Amino acid sequence: MRKAEAELLASFEQALAAGQLHMAYQPKVAVKDGSLVRVEALVRWDDPMLGAVEPARFVPLAEQHGLIDDLTQWGLRRILGQWLKWRDEGIDTCIAFNISALSLQSLDFPDLVERMCRALEVPTDRLVLELTEGATQPLIKLMDTLTRFRIKGIGLAIDDFGTGYSSLMQLRQLPFTEVKIDQSFVADIERSRDCRLIIQSITELAHGLGLTATAEGVETMHQLRLVRELGCDVVQGYLISPPLEPRALKGWKAKFRRAWPAMIAEEKLALWGDIESDALSEGQV
Ligand code: C2E
Ligand code: CA
Ligand code: CA
Repeated sequence: MRKAEAELLASFEQALAAGQLHMAYQPKVAVKDGSLVRVEALVRWDDPMLGAVEPARFVPLAEQHGLIDDLTQWGLRRILGQWLKWRDEGIDTCIAFNISALSLQSLDFPDLVERMCRALEVPTDRLVLELTEGATQPLIKLMDTLTRFRIKGIGLAIDDFGTGYSSLMQLRQLPFTEVKIDQSFVADIERSRDCRLIIQSITELAHGLGLTATAEGVETMHQLRLVRELGCDVVQGYLISPPLEPRALKGWKAKFRRAWPAMIAEEKLALWGDIESDALSEGQV
């Protein structure tokens, strides 16, 4: 391990033990009416010396050096506690939680999650686990564990779908409830006919298998309207909201309800025609 990496790891271990991590929550809304369907919990680490460290830097480090189960369990406790606080404020939403495939390797893990939910009286169907396929952690090997989660009523989303190692076969074989289309397709949706075709195909496939199709990384109104036309059910991204501190969710919800009609009030888009020039005239490419 390089010196810089070893130092980062030591600081992370300290931050985890000292309770210096926190969660931000990014809203995901239904395309049909803009209602809040769930929030995705995203871990945050603001170190006094290092500043904000991105999860893309410290999550892989935690995976490689035996700290991922501690991070997962800390995260679960945190989000279940947060769910209770929101419920007391009158917000009954679902929480999506990113989970490393490494944490799923123990067959007992679904029981542990269920016990944690039961101890706090959080219904298991308010929890969705988001999983990403990795080179060394094929999801198909986790079939039994994933099935156990579904039996307990916990939702399962396949994250970053369409890139990396995720495959169509897994959608059919594994008990997912949601497909999250990778942000890269949404980022290029205006420029690339191929991306539009990929989003449409994944969405149709998801619907054929009874799954929800979510578009991630929606940043502009134009992208929102396009993913809507292509049939996506749920949207998430900076246009809807950046990840929020928990106390900001209630205010966001009220504000977003008022903003939504204007976001989608637009005539039908020419999806396969002269879309590039549409985007140009909106100044978005
Ligand atoms: P992800 O699960 O794909 O999360 C989406 C990432 O996209 C988040 O980055 C989010 O802040 C960012 N994002 C949201 N909306 C937009 C948008 O409109 N445009 C763009 N360009 N980006 C957007 P973040 O928070 O840095 O997380 C990065 C990754 O770290 C996550 O990717 C997830 O794989 C992992 N991660 C985050 N929190 C946890 C955690 O608690 N546990 C584990 N195991 N992994 C986590
Ligand atoms: Ca995710
Ligand atoms: Ca993702």
